[in-house]
Amino acid sequence: AKRRGRNRVEAFNDELRLRTVEVKRLSDDILRGLERGEFHPFFQPQFDAETLEIVGVEALARWQHPTRGFIAPDVFLPVAETLNVVARIDETILDQALFQAMRWEGQGLGIPRVSVNVSCQRLRDEGLIDKLRAMNIRPGALTFELLESISFDTADDGLRQAIEEIKALGIDIEIDDFGTGHASIVSLLELSPKRLKIDRRLVQPLLESPSQQSLVRSIIDIGKVRGIETVAEGVETLDHAELLRNLGCHTLQGYALARPMGGDDFLAFAKARGWM
Ligand code: C2E
Ligand code: CA
Ligand code: CA
Ligand code: CA
Repeated sequence: AKRRGRNRVEAFNDELRLRTVEVKRLSDDILRGLERGEFHPFFQPQFDAETLEIVGVEALARWQHPTRGFIAPDVFLPVAETLNVVARIDETILDQALFQAMRWEGQGLGIPRVSVNVSCQRLRDEGLIDKLRAMNIRPGALTFELLESISFDTADDGLRQAIEEIKALGIDIEIDDFGTGHASIVSLLELSPKRLKIDRRLVQPLLESPSQQSLVRSIIDIGKVRGIETVAEGVETLDHAELLRNLGCHTLQGYALARPMGGDDFLAFAKARGWM
């Protein structure tokens, strides 16, 4: 038994060493990938719940690794965080997303708004506000989705000030993953965001239980009372879409309507739907 126990420990150590090697390699690859411009946005359309017209797209980071193909954010973001380079990823995704929106416009496809995910690290970036000001973005054309789960400290004055300056530039603030993080609802509402995004973990079980339904309903109702729009993500069936519309949710995003796709594929998608 002792021997078997030791083997198990050895096996565990091997696995741990493998993982360490793997993380080390991933770290080196991420830094190289940033230098070489391997991080690109995919775009997932967002739809008006009533008319099902496209009202915007969310840019989602994808890593096009030279040998391993597309790598999802869930794999590289945790490592990028330990390397302190999430802000650099955010920056390149924002730049490319705005560039893509300009290209689409040149191709005859005007997208009302583009949303990007913004880490708190990026919000603290000194040069961010100056850069945004210089870009002279049309009011409402850009939304920053703030990840609630990054336990952002809304009592942090620097962060609050950055958010106010961003809003003053006509950039909308949306609270991402609303209802799943640690920040209090009151402190999040104090930021007066333009939109709340209801996380897919709340949306998916919507048809199964009345209590789930009342949770989502209350988020939408808070929004109504405060004049804040609501966006639902993870809309995987048309039944979800219909229920959410009936609850008064403004905007829908999910596989039932469209998956994230590359910029050219999105153009083809919009064309096929007669949106241009
Ligand atoms: P998120 O912001 O909550 O984005 C929604 C995620 O749900 C995306 O995963 C999207 O592909 C996926 N999704 C969309 N529709 C459906 C659906 O109907 N069903 C299901 N099951 N999933 C759906 P993705 O692209 O893997 O991104 C994961 C997370 O990584 C994002 O979650 C976001 O928190 C983060 N992320 C993505 N891009 C960036 C970025 O550029 N910067 C930062 N800081 N974070 C990013
Ligand atoms: Ca998001
Ligand atoms: Ca998330
Ligand atoms: Ca989410």
